[in-house]
Amino acid sequence: MDLMRLHQRLAALLPEGRLLPDAVWHRRHRVLLRIAGAQAVLMGPLALALGESLPVAAGVLVAVGYPLAFAALPGAGRRLRSGATTVSLLAASVALVYLLDGLTEAHFHFFVVIGLVALYQSWAPFGIALLVVVLHHGVLGMLWPHTVFGHAAAHHDPWVWAGIHAAFVLAASLAHLASWRLNEQQGLRDPLTGLANRTLLVETADRLLQRRSGPVSVLFVDLDDFKDVNDSRGHAAGDQLLLTVADRLRSCVRAGDEVARLGGDEFAVVVDGGPDTAVTIGERVLRAVAEPLPVGGRPLVIGLSIGVADSTTAADRRAGTLLHNADLAMYRAKGLGKNRLVRYTEGMAQAAEDRATLGADLAVATRAGQLEVYYQPTVELAAGRTTGYEALVRWRHPRRGLVPPAEFVPLAEESGHIVEIGRWVLDRAVRQAAAWSAGSGQPLGIAVNLSPRQLTDDDIVRRVADVLADTGLPAGQLTLEVTEGVLVRDVDTVIDQLHALRALGVRIAIDDFGTGYSSLSYLRRLPADIVKIDRSFVQDLRPGGPSTTLVSSIIELARSLHLEVVAEGVETEVQRAVLDDLTCSHAQGYLFGRPQPADAHRRGDEHAAPPVPAGA
Ligand code: C2E
Ligand code: MG
Ligand code: MG
Repeated sequence: MDLMRLHQRLAALLPEGRLLPDAVWHRRHRVLLRIAGAQAVLMGPLALALGESLPVAAGVLVAVGYPLAFAALPGAGRRLRSGATTVSLLAASVALVYLLDGLTEAHFHFFVVIGLVALYQSWAPFGIALLVVVLHHGVLGMLWPHTVFGHAAAHHDPWVWAGIHAAFVLAASLAHLASWRLNEQQGLRDPLTGLANRTLLVETADRLLQRRSGPVSVLFVDLDDFKDVNDSRGHAAGDQLLLTVADRLRSCVRAGDEVARLGGDEFAVVVDGGPDTAVTIGERVLRAVAEPLPVGGRPLVIGLSIGVADSTTAADRRAGTLLHNADLAMYRAKGLGKNRLVRYTEGMAQAAEDRATLGADLAVATRAGQLEVYYQPTVELAAGRTTGYEALVRWRHPRRGLVPPAEFVPLAEESGHIVEIGRWVLDRAVRQAAAWSAGSGQPLGIAVNLSPRQLTDDDIVRRVADVLADTGLPAGQLTLEVTEGVLVRDVDTVIDQLHALRALGVRIAIDDFGTGYSSLSYLRRLPADIVKIDRSFVQDLRPGGPSTTLVSSIIELARSLHLEVVAEGVETEVQRAVLDDLTCSHAQGYLFGRPQPADAHRRGDEHAAPPVPAGA
């Protein structure tokens, strides 16, 4: 058992024997070949200069030069070529020792050669060197001791001194092996987490794919909103988060699987198994990371987007293809709202291309006048009348027609275009509300969605103040809707901004309540006036159902915090009746009116009543 452990420890010190990349190997081989060639050329004249006969000089030239004929063979494998070069280099050592009558200093040449052949990062040259030293010193040392050793002790015991010299060569070889190992580590490991890097991951995947006929899978794992953690908590905290995630990833995989950090906040896992195994591991990872991560003494909740691809759905058995597919699936996971796992399916490549085109088109959408604002009424349930409207952006794409926000808002959020779009919507919607209010002579509420980026990347407070001043709309008529997602960003800045907005008199609504990952303590911290219960809870409302209990608790909670409640996505009379029973104050949904362009509301050609003053 202990022997086993010792063996394992020693093995860990040795290089894994990874082959050098072809280009690097050839570069090094060329240099060594030149050195060996130069030695072959110089050895002949040196022999003559030292008073040797012409045949001896020719013999030396042949001994050093001939192996190079194999070393330069273009069709030969790496092993033959590096072996032949090693033999040539060592032949020069032997010749030098011979020409200098066994002079001890001449033996130093062996060590130079060991250093040179170490550049091959291959075991064979070390073996050859050791063998040559033992045989040369032992056999020649016995037959002609003066050609090998320069001192009397060795002349009497050539094998003992062959052993001593061999031990030094072995020691030098081990030192080179150690640095070879270090080279391997540095070239294959991520310095921060110690996980495999991309090179090693691709190598492992390729090896599995080539060795086995069975399926191999890859998980592509990307942290959600990692940049915000870095920005708000600092890079040291970011590093600590990456380390913690690396640990959790490690704990979720099996012995044969390889976890790698590809760079930044991207990780990947090569799974020696099919898609089902990979999905199981991926789900385990999601669960493991869902637990708050202790970072800098404060817990942090972070989501992961995971893409899974396997060799059964790939066009070929190449690691690059698997990784690319898994990457596409990961992007899909991001697009679907992050913090989830998505399996690669055919067509994702096309979809990704479409999204990229859409993203590029988005850059000009605002200026090209392709954006529109639709308005959806909010009603007061008890009285059944419209108290205001929510502004919902639409994109009239020149080729695709009307694109819903679910498709382009996440893209715009990612690229930053949302800031420009958001400004435009705010301006448009507030102007519309002011016009409606002026037209009817009654105050009318308007709600505008704010994306997380607008709270951190834009001077939103000044913009809101300006547009209110410009249009004359009283601040109390404007509601800004934010999702719990804003809390993933720089929490303190966001909360300060929201306080400043409220100080203007604007109301803040928490949109899609219940879908984010914020805890109740956040709800206490977030300065808000309204919670909007997400459609997913409203959808399942029926008397006595589980959603009903949940919605009832949210309403109770909101009431205790003095918040107004709006139920989103009410489509049926049953849902409306249940909400009425739960004394929910406001609602929104197709039952009362779909989002429509402003003029449709003015014409009143929809289910909702034309604008009625808020609170009137
Ligand atoms: P949201 O703010 O929660 O808006 C409500 C969404 O639910 C709207 O989708 C609306 O059309 C839809 N909806 C309303 N009632 C019903 C219903 O009874 N049944 C169903 N099935 N759906 C209903 P829409 O317009 O597609 O907008 C989706 C999301 O896009 C919005 O969710 C909001 O988060 C975002 N969004 C829209 N406009 C903007 C904007 O100007 N800026 C930003 N940052 N985000 C926006
Ligand atoms: Mg909204
Ligand atoms: Mg909503």
